[in-house]
Amino acid sequence: MRFLAPVLAAGLLLPTLTACSNGDGSSGDLEVVASFYPLQYVAQRVAGDHATVESLTAPGKEPHDSELTVRQTADVARADVVVTLGGFQPSVDDAVDQEADGAVVDAHEEVRGDDPHFWQDPTRLAAVAQRVGSALAKADAAHAADYRRNAQELVGDLRALDRAYRSGLADCRVDTVVVSHDAFGYLDRYGLDVVGITGLSPDAEPSPARLRDLADLIRRTGVTTVFSETLVSPAVARTLAEEVGVRTATLDPVEGLTDETADLDYLSLMRRNLEALRTAGSCT
Ligand SMILES: [Zn+2]
Repeated sequence: MRFLAPVLAAGLLLPTLTACSNGDGSSGDLEVVASFYPLQYVAQRVAGDHATVESLTAPGKEPHDSELTVRQTADVARADVVVTLGGFQPSVDDAVDQEADGAVVDAHEEVRGDDPHFWQDPTRLAAVAQRVGSALAKADAAHAADYRRNAQELVGDLRALDRAYRSGLADCRVDTVVVSHDAFGYLDRYGLDVVGITGLSPDAEPSPARLRDLADLIRRTGVTTVFSETLVSPAVARTLAEEVGVRTATLDPVEGLTDETADLDYLSLMRRNLEALRTAGSCT
């Protein structure tokens, strides 16, 4: 109280700040590092006011081939908790293996086969949220109840999102979805058959034979829309759509925010994707 009294007298008491201060007066905030956006979103929701969260992938950057700076490697070394997806970003894997001193939450167990884009299934991201809640509660016991409550709130939001996808995509005229890179395979949970123009990594260029096969598929299944993505050039999707005479639209793989989506977040981007999918599939 000796320390707080003058602050109270000055009318400047900020409960969250004082609650986070250590006895020595320095900030006691937990430092959390997340390797790219969906994990950053989870970390921020769970951390609330009690921790600082930094992402290793800058907004607008495609995370598949990100390289860490020296400063980011130091951030990994210093972090109390690192939230990462092993096998997705090799340079992050190296830094985590060699430098990380704090707790590591690896989302890799949510990955099915060789497709890393597990966050397209909200129930898998919910499982990561639970684990991040436990890791933060352990690393900062003083705020354990808050972290657990934040994690539960997020799990509730993710389950609601899952229900919206299930009902929204239950009855569609076309269940085939053509996307520029294969980031949406986990949507098969909702009965969609997702076909990528390129493979799991967005850099590859499709061969003419591949484009011919896709054109046939689009005509055969009645696909109305070829989806391009926010972080990848739309040229290939446009070429294919023009050749078959269907529309293009954007689907966000939610691998990172951009200038255009800076005001949105995982939940709102996923809801926007759902509307685009419902329109393309003529879902009722
Ligand atoms: Zn991807």
